[in-house]
Amino acid sequence: MSTTKQWSFSESVANMAERAFDALGLDSGVAGAIKSCDAVLQVRFPVEIRGKIETFTGWRAVHSAHRLPSKGGIRFAPIVNQDEVEALAALMTYKCAIVDVPFGGSKGGLLIDPRQYERSEMQLITRRFTRELVRKGFLSPATNVPAPDMGTGEREMAWMMDTYRTLNPEDINHAACVTGKPVAHGGIRGRVEATGRGTVFALREFFRHREDLDAAGLSGNLEGKRIVVQGLGNVGYHATKILQEEDGAIIIAVIERDGAIIDESGLDIQAVYTHLVESGGVAGFGESKYFEDGLSVLELDCDILIPAALEGQITAANAANIKAAIVCEAANGPITFEGDDILNQRGVVVLPDAFVNAGGVTVSYFEWIRNLAHIRFGRMERRYDEMRGQHMAQALESMTGSKLPDIVRDELVRGADELDLVRSGLDDTMRLSYQQISEELHSNDKISDFRTAAYAVAIKKIARSYLDIGVY
Ligand code: NAD
Repeated sequence: MSTTKQWSFSESVANMAERAFDALGLDSGVAGAIKSCDAVLQVRFPVEIRGKIETFTGWRAVHSAHRLPSKGGIRFAPIVNQDEVEALAALMTYKCAIVDVPFGGSKGGLLIDPRQYERSEMQLITRRFTRELVRKGFLSPATNVPAPDMGTGEREMAWMMDTYRTLNPEDINHAACVTGKPVAHGGIRGRVEATGRGTVFALREFFRHREDLDAAGLSGNLEGKRIVVQGLGNVGYHATKILQEEDGAIIIAVIERDGAIIDESGLDIQAVYTHLVESGGVAGFGESKYFEDGLSVLELDCDILIPAALEGQITAANAANIKAAIVCEAANGPITFEGDDILNQRGVVVLPDAFVNAGGVTVSYFEWIRNLAHIRFGRMERRYDEMRGQHMAQALESMTGSKLPDIVRDELVRGADELDLVRSGLDDTMRLSYQQISEELHSNDKISDFRTAAYAVAIKKIARSYLDIGVY
């Protein structure tokens, strides 16, 4: 494949999958079935805003429905287009397969700059868009379940669920029609931070694999590792906050819309985030150095670069200058196909988006199950587990004749609540997925990078599903 052509986002994703199809020697018919996008809905709808009629355009792409429902976020952004939505839907198919979440892949987008509208206007637009999706069969708990993405969050998900419920009052499972809802409206604890925390779990597992760490020229653990992040939104903020507070990593630069700030001694992520929310940018934060050309800061010398903003940031134009030992793709598609080729040739370790940011869909899966079960995780067993822990502690104390240290006793007698269970399930998912990818990387001599290995893991599972069910 030539690397001189400028590929679109969906072509870039297809090319990346193609490497894995080649490495697996998959039948071209099956490969074609896996690669193609099943359906795309485009809607245009009018809304009256401040006395004027405005027409909005939105999309929902279903890349695969080999498992149902199809799952994927909805983004509200001024740069969404059909190609992007199709590319992101394809990524969702591979992502769900990598982390063993039994969903097909989907994605949606609405062409809008949410910052230009009042809350009440956004509610009107979101509800109108939802009605279009529901009426055209692109949103329901059984077939297609959106989640938050860029420019959307709990608020939008609550409006979408309520609109679906109004249209389907008989559906007892209405809460499962979207994930990422507020906890008070059927959401699950730990969903907001899930993608960021999943990114951290992915990195921690990488650092447990000596062979992979050596290949990146790194050693030790995350403590003291120098990190650059692009995008301090939902994903970037949670990932770097956890890395800083729980792992002792040093965040040396934050790149945002208005430029970048650098402080080699480490930025206080919570303080930067507060500054960003209050002032709308990172400029003027404390003693840090400010650079208007944020993109150039991707090239800063560091251990780990975490692009967590948007796609197409590392390309043929700058990939040769990236100095990070690891690029950890928290955003979807931040590296283009051409950029990826260059990083691979240079031996830079790329932990791919379809694995790294799968924490969001993993916890969305937990939320969907919770909604169908109509019960919070841990509700039945928590006190029972506590009682067993009490008995265990008492037995240990009477056998040894000494009191257990408070910290040990507290751990033993504490029953897991929903947040504990969600974090445990997420950690387990990210660890097991990493192990499958790493095993594929080291056992297939046609594969030499994590992305192709991750796609190969996914494609084997999807192909198996197609072959088992058959095509009709
Ligand atoms: P978000 O809207 O909460 O945050 C995005 C951040 O990037 C914002 O702070 C924004 O100011 C910043 N940004 C925008 N343009 C920028 C630019 N040109 N340079 C630097 N910063 C810029 O979005 P999010 O939910 O954090 O999503 C970020 C990425 O992660 C997207 O690619 C999304 O598809 C992906 N993702 C999100 C989730 C999720 O659960 N939210 C799950 C999987 C993947």
